[in-house]
Order: sequence, then C-alpha cells, then structure tokens
Amino acid sequence: MAGDGALAERLARVEAGIADAVREAGRDPADVTTIVVTKFHPATLVRELAGLGVVDVGENRQQEASEKSAELADLELRWHFIGQLQSKKARLVSGFATAVHSLDRLSLVTALGSALASRDPRTTLDGFIQVNLTDDTARGGVRPGDLDAFAESVLATDGIRLRGLMAVAPLDVEPRAAFEAVRLLGERLRTVAPEATALSMGMSGDYREAVLEGATHLRIGTAITGNRPLAG
Ligand SMILES: *Cc1c(COP(=O)(O)O)cnc(C)c1O
Repeated sequence: MAGDGALAERLARVEAGIADAVREAGRDPADVTTIVVTKFHPATLVRELAGLGVVDVGENRQQEASEKSAELADLELRWHFIGQLQSKKARLVSGFATAVHSLDRLSLVTALGSALASRDPRTTLDGFIQVNLTDDTARGGVRPGDLDAFAESVLATDGIRLRGLMAVAPLDVEPRAAFEAVRLLGERLRTVAPEATALSMGMSGDYREAVLEGATHLRIGTAITGNRPLAG
C-alpha cells in the first residue's frame, strides 16, 4: 500500500472529520491532538505517516512499540502507550514513551516512578488515568469511586505529570453518554488535580462524539491506517 496515496487520503478524510467536529463543538483546534494508533502495523507505515505530518502515534504492546520506536529513532515522534501495561514492563516503556494513557494500578504507577527516577529529570512522562466505565472489573481502568485516591497517588509520584483521564466507550453504551460520563469525572478529578485537564477518548468510530464532549486526545487507528494486519 506504501505510496499509493490511500493512507494520505484516509488521513486527510479523518482530519477533515475532526475539523468538522471541532467546529460543531465551537472548540479551538489547537486543543485537540490526534494520536494515530499504529499497533500491529510495521514501522514502514509509521514512517509513511510521519512523512504526512503525523507526530503522535499510539501503541499498545511493549515489545512491538520498543522495536518500532528504536527503528524510527531518527524521527521526532511522540509515542503514546495506550494498552494495558504490566508493572514489570514499566521500565521498558519509560524508555521510549512520551505518555502512558493506561495508568490503572498503584503497582504500575510505583514501577513507572522508580523507572523514571533514572530518566533525564527534564523529561517527565505524561500520565493519563484510565477509567473503567463498565461494571466488569476485568476491563482495564480505575473504578470511578477509586479515582480521587488513585489520582493522589499519581500526583505524589515524581516523574509523572498527571494530564487527565483516558477511557474507551463500552460497546453497549451510546458513545456520547459514555464520553459525557468521562467529562464529568474529569471535572471531579480537577478538584484534586487542577492541572489534569486532558481527556483521552474517541476512536475511529466515535471521535465526533468524543470531540463534542471535550476530548483533547483522540486515539484513531483503522480509520487512518486501514485494517490492522492479523496479530502476529
Ligand atoms: C486500538 C485502540 C484504539 C484505536 O482503535 P480504532 O478503532 O482502530 O480507531 C484506540 N484506543 C485503544 C486503547 C486501542 O487499543
């Protein structure tokens, strides 16, 4: 597919869709960052995206992301880690990531904190607390009732700059309602963390609804990259 223009076309189509949603919401385009989720795609595709002006990319598996970020170290990309992260892999992720969107356990925050202690102190890691909008505790994310206490722990961790919340809309809920719930949790978060204003929400199928509810970071994969190759 490289060079056939399809990628550029899909990127342009999504960017136009986001611009429409931002206008509809009466928001400032500068307040919305689009992260292109490149999981399962080869580094060559990420390089092609960078050539089209993409700066923020998202990955959800440590090993794959470590390899791709190393291969593309000549590019000025910001790597966002968006998947469930085991504490034992925190150090490896802190080696390449600009942001981790899936803070959901104290053990992970502690592990990231100790890994970051050996990183250049000028480079803080952006952290997003993932919230679980379902009753299914097997799904990643902090329960809303635990949010304030967990946020206090993140705030107390040197090296992590708490940016805000991250969520995935559950399949059985209207996305706009799910994102409204995240927006309200974000307002509550700001009573303990006034600077944590970011909302990482909205994917290929629901980014318009996310923008209308105040998303600041969209995580968009297939609408831009095309279908993902099968997991290897
Ligand atoms: C894969 C993934 C996305 C992107 O999903 P698309 O439907 O391909 O846009 C966004 N967020 C998370 C957490 C993901 O794992």
